[in-house]
Amino acid sequence: MNSETILGVNVTPLNHKEITNAINQRIKAELKSTIVAINPEKIIKANKNQELLALLNSATYQIPDGIGVILASKLRKGALQSRVTGIDLMERLLELADTERYRIYLYGAHDSVVSKAVQVIKTKYTNIELVGYMHGYEQNTNKIIRDINNCSPDLLFVALGSPRQEFWIKENMDRLNVKVVQGVGGSFDVLSGKVKRAPKAFRNMGLEWFYRLMTNPSRFRRQLVLPAFLLKVLLKRKENSPIGEPE
Ligand code: UDP
Repeated sequence: MNSETILGVNVTPLNHKEITNAINQRIKAELKSTIVAINPEKIIKANKNQELLALLNSATYQIPDGIGVILASKLRKGALQSRVTGIDLMERLLELADTERYRIYLYGAHDSVVSKAVQVIKTKYTNIELVGYMHGYEQNTNKIIRDINNCSPDLLFVALGSPRQEFWIKENMDRLNVKVVQGVGGSFDVLSGKVKRAPKAFRNMGLEWFYRLMTNPSRFRRQLVLPAFLLKVLLKRKENSPIGEPE
């Protein structure tokens, strides 16, 4: 698979359906997969932190979870077409799990949030085998790993925020008896109903960031990264070809 490289960070140029199908094939082939979400904030952080850069690039799939990443690709005449948000991909994987009878485990967020997310998922996906969950403030990593492995899930969703969840996945992947791990940030907050997603009209216009800014102005500082990121991409445009080396 060719991936596009934006300021050193690989991004997978596949849509939801293509990634979901590829993951299903990898599950059947008993291959482990890791999925991380890429947005401008994470790319800027990774440019200042070699360890983060290496671990993002070592994931099986880096999904373009941010309109800024798509804009950057367009500026460089790259291959990325549309956003693949963490929560949308998680929902596709839940549908897949529902039909294929894959086992699911949720790890992260506050106890009340993750337990509500479990209820919501079980109501929506009636055949799903949701085999366990753990809140994200448990300090004993051995206990967490033991519980996950005892439940033997096929898919594990980790919602600790970034880059905490990416580091956690990297550190513990070898000890986890799971086939797929996706870092999903604040998705359990959304699934539980604690946080509302932008209305579809905003999402379709690529304005989800604007809605989040209006409803949560404290994100302002985080979003200041976007113009600086796009400028950096423009300045670097001539130095790099958009398509990276094949895997
Ligand atoms: N969180 C957690 N453990 C921690 C810190 C954070 O489980 O030690 C959870 C927090 O409760 C929230 C999620 O991580 O559910 C972070 O969401 P945020 O929207 O900040 O993530 P982002 O996608 O922006 O990285």
